[in-house]
Amino acid sequence: MTECEICGAEIRGRAQYISIGASKLKVCSACARHGTVVVEEKKMKMGRSEGAKKTKLYERMDHEIEEGLELEEDYGRKVRDARERAGLKQTELAKRINEKQSLLRKIENEEITPSNDVMRKIERVLKSFI
Ligand SMILES: [Zn+2]
Repeated sequence: MTECEICGAEIRGRAQYISIGASKLKVCSACARHGTVVVEEKKMKMGRSEGAKKTKLYERMDHEIEEGLELEEDYGRKVRDARERAGLKQTELAKRINEKQSLLRKIENEEITPSNDVMRKIERVLKSFI
């Protein structure tokens, strides 16, 4: 048997929980108006909003990968072909672009990725042969 902690009467049906100051009381529905009704905690932690955020991260990663150098795959072969069409030796072209022959050789072998600056100089010299 459940009794109201205020009036001592038997509680019929559901008991009400109220707080008066610091104390929490189990009371009958008639006495519930004496304090603040305490809402049961179960009902408060419902409605999760996780999960919707996860897809956004992947979209952003795809975007970042697309950025970067736009060098053609066979830049080395193109430089060599153009140089040969121009009738220049590696040393001659190197001298014209003010770079070492060894650098040019590495570019043509695609051992290194030329900087935009070097590529521009090569294109300027060989532009009618590329
Ligand atoms: Zn009561």
